[in-house]
Amino acid sequence: MSDRGVTVWFTGLSGAGKTTIRMVIEQELRARGLKVEVLDGDIVRQNLTKGLGFSKADRDENIRRIGFVAHLLSRNGVIVLVSAISPYRNIRDEVRQKIQDFVEVYVNAPLSVCEARDVKGLYKKARAGEIKQFTGIDDPYEPPINPEVECHTDQESPEESAMKVLDYLEQLGYLPTNSVTSRA
Ligand code: ADP
Repeated sequence: MSDRGVTVWFTGLSGAGKTTIRMVIEQELRARGLKVEVLDGDIVRQNLTKGLGFSKADRDENIRRIGFVAHLLSRNGVIVLVSAISPYRNIRDEVRQKIQDFVEVYVNAPLSVCEARDVKGLYKKARAGEIKQFTGIDDPYEPPINPEVECHTDQESPEESAMKVLDYLEQLGYLPTNSVTSRA
């Protein structure tokens, strides 16, 4: 069933590993000739949702628009990889209801680990008060209650995390069988 689209939604704190895992998965799926599209939160905010801020209302609108595009694509057979902090549970669940072919991946690392990584230097700025409404510091993050996949990125490698997701997609019939098991 290679023509069944799906939205794979990576949620988690900044620096948890959403982009890193997404890139491993994207490479793997493209190598297998599957149709893949990426909606990355940072890039989306520069175009599709330009002008939106970080209030709850704006964050929800950001996610709603990403969800809208993800739905259009995945219902046409594309595997859509969304990486966005998406801190609010309700809006994630709203998008899930709409799309249905929806796999939520909780990219979970403790705040202390994300902060120590500080991939983009944003935690330092948030702690210094130079950035307001920063998720995990002075803005909430509501973890998924029952995600399809959970990756503990402080305990596993990006490849292990990616394989968990790929295995799940395969089990659910979103990938052609044997498409992800042949890696050395
Ligand atoms: P996000 O997209 O969630 O903001 P990034 O992917 O940009 O996070 O950064 C995550 C950082 O954590 C990277 O430096 C990455 O190398 C590191 N890391 C360590 N282990 C993992 C893992 N299992 N999965 C993803 N990232 C990991």
